[in-house]
Amino acid sequence: MRTQRTNSELLAVKNPELLTHLESQRRYLLRVHLGQGPPPCPACGRLQYPWEAAGLTIDTYDIGSGAAAYHCVGCGIAMTEGLGFFGGEYFWQRATVAKEQA
Ligand SMILES: [Zn+2]
Repeated sequence: MRTQRTNSELLAVKNPELLTHLESQRRYLLRVHLGQGPPPCPACGRLQYPWEAAGLTIDTYDIGSGAAAYHCVGCGIAMTEGLGFFGGEYFWQRATVAKEQA
């Protein structure tokens, strides 16, 4: 049984055709994020990658799982990751406020 590749290992793979479907998806998402660069916090403008906002490193972050909770490294607001409609760019948005606060 082989162990799962880390994100850094996925990015360094020389023969992408050897990756599983899931690994290819993770690699694709990583490359999109790294190619775009870290998007800014909507409140304070602090630039950060999703693994940073999740309090993780690129290798401990389970990209594509949707399991992480994001908080701005700078100001601490709760954020969710959005995907631009046209350009396909990732951005941060404020997490929707819970109903009981309305
Ligand atoms: Zn912030």
